Amino acid sequence: MLDGLKNNLRDAIKKIVKSSGIDEELIKELSKNVQRALLQSDVNVRLVLEITKQIEIRSLNETPPPGLSRKDHIVKILYDELAKLLGKESDFDFKSGKQNKLIMLGIQGSGKTTVTAKLAKFLTKQGYSVGVIGADTYRPGALVQLRTMCEKSNVEVYGEPNNKNSPDIVKNGLKYFESLPLDVILIDTAGRHKEEKDLLSEMEQINKVAEPDLAILVIDGTIGQQCFNQAEAFHKTIPVGGIIITKLDSSAKGGGAIAASAATGAQIMYIGTGERIDDLEKFSPTRFVGRLLG
Ligand code: GDP
Repeated sequence: MLDGLKNNLRDAIKKIVKSSGIDEELIKELSKNVQRALLQSDVNVRLVLEITKQIEIRSLNETPPPGLSRKDHIVKILYDELAKLLGKESDFDFKSGKQNKLIMLGIQGSGKTTVTAKLAKFLTKQGYSVGVIGADTYRPGALVQLRTMCEKSNVEVYGEPNNKNSPDIVKNGLKYFESLPLDVILIDTAGRHKEEKDLLSEMEQINKVAEPDLAILVIDGTIGQQCFNQAEAFHKTIPVGGIIITKLDSSAKGGGAIAASAATGAQIMYIGTGERIDDLEKFSPTRFVGRLLG
């Protein structure tokens, strides 16, 4: 993952570190190289321009703090600005004494159902009691898949195989779980309809019924630039509060997911790193940038 970006950034940094002196021309060159690296990794153009402008301004104007060479300071600026782009580390902020409702959003194939089951297990292992509602009535097999995956971690899944009305299923599911001592309810939703507007309108209805505490957008890390538009469309319908990027075990560069974060203002919380139920990791921006810069 991200190898291209990593190599390109590493080359750009090497140039700075190896140079005999730092001047405006070299900083401009660094900025260009960083731009190229980010664009090749599918980071949105507007973001790339913003971040590199900031790197240029700070590199040209800031005096390094005592003990830090000018070169090291510039590398630190680059590091800071990339970390800013990725946001702070963030985690769930569950309220105790209530059932925290999380709605999972994302287009079909993004890995939403898999992530729902992964998250159910992950939270169970952290000591939360979790219930799941399967409300993807569009994709045949989604409910069975969810049940099969959740069975192993003893998480109960509420579903109605013969009901196509997903807001109804959510309503019934919440009622069913109401009397149980659950901390978290995860709601898996559909990712496709004949028309995109039908999907978004269904999400809107589910949102009304569920009144979720958090909407999580699941994004396929391999889709590149489409991430931005997809995230924006969902966010306009239901305010997205957290993002999970899947399939980062592939050779995907993942830069598009950074754009999804920018489109919604929501943080990347977890990453999916495989098809198995345990392949879920907490997203760490500092580790991520550390990896980028080698
Ligand atoms: P949904 O339509 O959004 O519910 O997507 P699914 O959960 O059914 O996932 C679609 C496909 O992606 C399935 O074959 C999953 O096994 C696969 N998948 C999901 N998450 C990951 C991941 O993190 N890595 C890999 N390699 N495959 C994944």
